[in-house]
Amino acid sequence: MNTAPAPGPARNPSPAPRRGGGAPRATTNRPPRRFDRPGERRRPTDRRGGRPGSATRQIQRILRRPNALSTRTTRTADYYPEPVAANAVRIIPLGGAEEVGRNMLAMEVGATGDIIVFDVGFQFVSEDSSPGVDYILPNTKYLEKNAARVKGVVITHGHLDHIGGIPFVMSRFGTPPIYTQNLTSIMIQRRQEEYPDVPKLEIIEVETGQTVTIGSTKVTFFPVTHSIPFSMGASIETPQGNVVISGDLKLDHDDGIPSEREQKTWGGLSKNKNIFFIADSTNAEKDGFSIPEKRVNQTLEEIIKTVSGRLIIGTFASQFERMIRIIEVAEKLGKKIVTEGRSIKTNLEIAEKTGLLKIEKSTVIPAQDIGNYPPDKIVILTTGAQGEEFAALMRIATHQHKHITLNERDTIVLSSSVIPGNEIAVQKLKDNLYRHGVTLIHYRSSDVHSTGHGNTGELVWMNKQVGAKFFMPYYGYYSMLACHAKAVEQSGFPRENIIMPDNGKIIDIVDGETLHAHKEKVPSAPMIVDGFTIGDIQEVVIRDRQSLAKDGMFVIIASVNLKTGKLRKSPDIISRGFIYLRESQDLLNQARLLIKKTIEDSTQGMNPIDLDYVKNNLTDVIAGFLFQRTNKAPMVIPVLIGM
Ligand SMILES: [Zn+2]
Repeated sequence: MNTAPAPGPARNPSPAPRRGGGAPRATTNRPPRRFDRPGERRRPTDRRGGRPGSATRQIQRILRRPNALSTRTTRTADYYPEPVAANAVRIIPLGGAEEVGRNMLAMEVGATGDIIVFDVGFQFVSEDSSPGVDYILPNTKYLEKNAARVKGVVITHGHLDHIGGIPFVMSRFGTPPIYTQNLTSIMIQRRQEEYPDVPKLEIIEVETGQTVTIGSTKVTFFPVTHSIPFSMGASIETPQGNVVISGDLKLDHDDGIPSEREQKTWGGLSKNKNIFFIADSTNAEKDGFSIPEKRVNQTLEEIIKTVSGRLIIGTFASQFERMIRIIEVAEKLGKKIVTEGRSIKTNLEIAEKTGLLKIEKSTVIPAQDIGNYPPDKIVILTTGAQGEEFAALMRIATHQHKHITLNERDTIVLSSSVIPGNEIAVQKLKDNLYRHGVTLIHYRSSDVHSTGHGNTGELVWMNKQVGAKFFMPYYGYYSMLACHAKAVEQSGFPRENIIMPDNGKIIDIVDGETLHAHKEKVPSAPMIVDGFTIGDIQEVVIRDRQSLAKDGMFVIIASVNLKTGKLRKSPDIISRGFIYLRESQDLLNQARLLIKKTIEDSTQGMNPIDLDYVKNNLTDVIAGFLFQRTNKAPMVIPVLIGM
């Protein structure tokens, strides 16, 4: 028995199938197809081989089928610039300039030849745009090309959009040493333990205020306020002046007046000759000053004191200070804490290890002991405030938690904002919570959350303090960068000295005076982590998944007599996500007839029978037929068995 495999994406289908008589066309000689965008149909430009009167052939020509994709044929060569001149510095955002996440920026110092990388993040992606992909990474090709000159990686803080890519990409450019602070270092190492096969990291712990020499380049770290402790920015010394990179940050302030600590930090930076300031734009679409964390703590403290029943607080596990504050207040009031969610447990362990959290052993109790205490003595700290399907809070809300069942005396605080893209999930969560008759407090109803990123009032203040010649908004979608740029410009900063980044953009500052952006970019297409594989984004694979999600699949199984070219029996059809077969008997019968006819026509006079050729032909005809009849383009997979 000879089973012919289904056509792979690399094979180029015949544009003009030949029928009968002569030898079949060699599959390898077929011209490659253009690489079209998803969902785009091929235009009827190729008229060769069309048989008058055959509707399916017509459609076949205009139909772009998803299962016959080829790779890009007119791929331009990647661009890699020469090393930057000795009197210049170069900045290349490799990720994070067109999205929130996968932050990574490379800086090349002309005088020393050193390349230093700032942050190695990843980004979670939505199921809709990239089905099956777990997360995407910054493109590291430029660093791989220049690996010998990459002297170190600075990690500004422990959020995943700044450390998430480390296990996947560090070895691609020689696993250079990582410079970061204590807590961040522990968080990086914790994650690393989940990937035992990757090369060991060299982490050099630093403190803010400290100056280290990376390669031959001096880098000084300064403390910044953010939603995770031990966040820092970096000031990089070059002969032309300093480049200041903010990391994620906001300002600690009282009604718009920066705290003394902030004044000191930023005042210190202002004394240097700064040529370039790169700053966090994430919250730049909001004006004024963000809510200070102090107020959030006061509000939460008030709630913990006054609530009479059980209190359940949903928050981000990375909100160390907030969780610590909640636990301390609860302990003071003689309440017991229950923690739910692995990331919260892990991070509280880290907090204890680093000395951030000091509590009595008996304060934290296991969930099964809840019944041993009166409800007003219980505070539950849980993950899942973003409506994540399998997180603890959703399980509690949907009766799937072993030990916690909600009732109308419970108060629930969602101490987080809604991350864009999670709106529907959070709505579902709130609905499920309200079904229990609980009292719900969230950031819209009360100051129970503050962002970790500064509003424009804060950003403009920082920019003035740094007083650099050039400015680049960074970390965020273009709208955020644009609002940041506008605010800075309106504060009197010269417009021509603001540069808008794209991922892969090469920005050279010559003599600290002139800014030059290259026309071409270094490779910046995201790399994906898909289950256990990492690699360049496999557009073909993603597109197949999108097509499957959209129009489903249509599998044809037929046994062909290799001597006569006739079918052994009526073909089998399996379809998923396309149409409901039981109600489409008419369509199915016609499809079966067409399959039989196409196979038998294709094999007529063919000797020996080339099943690959028949299969391509069959795919084209059936895809055309289905599209004509249903206006859908399912992935057609013929399985021909030669007997
Ligand atoms: Zn952050």
